[in-house]
Amino acid sequence: MAESFDVIVIGGGPGGYVAAIRAAQLGKRTAVVEKDKPGGRCLNYACIPAKTMLHTAEILEAARSSEALGVKTTGVELDWQALAARRAQVSQTLSGGVQMLWERNKVTWIEGEGSLTEDGNVRVGDEVYEAGAVILATGSVALPIPGVEFGGRIVDTWGAWSLDELPRSIAVVGAGASGSEIASAYVRYGTEVTLIEMLDQILPAEDRDCARVVERVFKKQGITVSTGTPVENVEDTGDSVRFTYGGQEGEADYLVIAGGRAPDTAALNLEAAKVETEENGKIRVDEYQRTSNQKVFAIGDLVRGPALAHKAMEEGIVAAEAAAGAPTHPVDVDLIPGATFCHPQVASVGLTEAQAKEKGLDYKVGRLKLGAVGAGTVYDDRDGFVKLVIDTTYGEIVGAHIVGNRACDMIAELVNTMALEGGYQELARIIHAHPTISEAVLDAARAVDGWATHAA
Ligand SMILES: Cc1cc2nc3c(=O)[nH]c(=O)nc-3n(C[C@H](O)[C@H](O)[C@H](O)COP(=O)(O)OP(=O)(O)OC[C@H]3O[C@@H](n4cnc5c(N)ncnc54)[C@H](O)[C@@H]3O)c2cc1C
Repeated sequence: MAESFDVIVIGGGPGGYVAAIRAAQLGKRTAVVEKDKPGGRCLNYACIPAKTMLHTAEILEAARSSEALGVKTTGVELDWQALAARRAQVSQTLSGGVQMLWERNKVTWIEGEGSLTEDGNVRVGDEVYEAGAVILATGSVALPIPGVEFGGRIVDTWGAWSLDELPRSIAVVGAGASGSEIASAYVRYGTEVTLIEMLDQILPAEDRDCARVVERVFKKQGITVSTGTPVENVEDTGDSVRFTYGGQEGEADYLVIAGGRAPDTAALNLEAAKVETEENGKIRVDEYQRTSNQKVFAIGDLVRGPALAHKAMEEGIVAAEAAAGAPTHPVDVDLIPGATFCHPQVASVGLTEAQAKEKGLDYKVGRLKLGAVGAGTVYDDRDGFVKLVIDTTYGEIVGAHIVGNRACDMIAELVNTMALEGGYQELARIIHAHPTISEAVLDAARAVDGWATHAA
């Protein structure tokens, strides 16, 4: 046996790095086994590179359309190499920050691939480390569509964000959060974009009204959007990719598959350690993230629920506290916000209107367009809206949906209100600073009972 630790975390992504820091804060001798870079896929290949690339798309678009705002610019152009360098730099900075946090909290980083032994310890290469508890946080890997393999001009989301050259055209398969973000960035870089979704709306997890507004803006921006059309007959010709969708033929420089992901459990040796999985391959856990092996916990993309970094982080806190025997409380799965950083942004928490209807709730809706409040016009953010879904029994907010340039920040207010069990009646009396887009939240709450000041 090499060294022994109270807690060993396998995987240093947002779930794992946060779990390790929390375990160390609770006085536990802690190690993280990470085979690649601190911060995991989120910081190095997914959320952070995607948002860095989207930020540049915003700046580019703002520069191009700034004349109407009184700023004349000439010669605005995208510098692809400089953007790629910044993308790498941002990830490197944040990954270095995670490594520094580990050092500051006296978390040992064991570099290498970790797997469980039969008795629930951790093997890395030839060494076995004894563990009081193990937290599995190895995340997920991209899945292609049936009959298609990644390679050449058929790329996954990281492939899309790290192309060597700015493509003339791309086709994106899957209009969930990642696919919509890729389409939204590339169309603003000047690439010809086709966005194809098998289901009948883009952003299928979002409220239909939100998806409708985003689709309208996407089309206005020049994205060809196709829904209800599975992609088939994919062929990489070497110079381009040909495919069919919904009876049409398509061709693009690159085909981006932004569909599903699968839990990354291949190296973990789960069966030997008696860690059970569900039918979809995810690790079965209870509300404290404990697996069927009482010594082993699992978090993040490895377990049920949406694949989101902030969900992974919170599960990391719960698992570390439970592993340390400290008081904790389970993640409330109904209060995990969704956030898509396309233009316009979409953010939501809780039930869509369709889900409220399906559940047979007696519900009401409060809705306000961002253009109705002053800030919408000042900041040129008029297209979106705030929509609240209310259970009429006690006025509980059961769903909140925002479309707009700041939606992903604004959703925090609704998550807080719902977590603190505030109803729409309280929200309708809380003062919001003027002029801010958040005033649309206030008036959406008032709109439930028909007294929004700025109702159109
Ligand atoms: C393109 C894209 C954009 C996204 N954008 C967002 C966003 O904006 N907001 C959001 O909340 N979510 C976003 N997500 C989802 C988010 O990236 C994941 O939910 C999150 O990364 C999951 O965190 P995790 O800790 O479970 O695992 P990961 O981030 O996947 O990290 C797992 C780590 O484990 C390591 N590892 C794997 N196996 C082993 C092993 N056996 N031994 C040692 N190390 C191992 C890997 O190297 C990796 O570093 C995005 C996803 C994609 C693909």
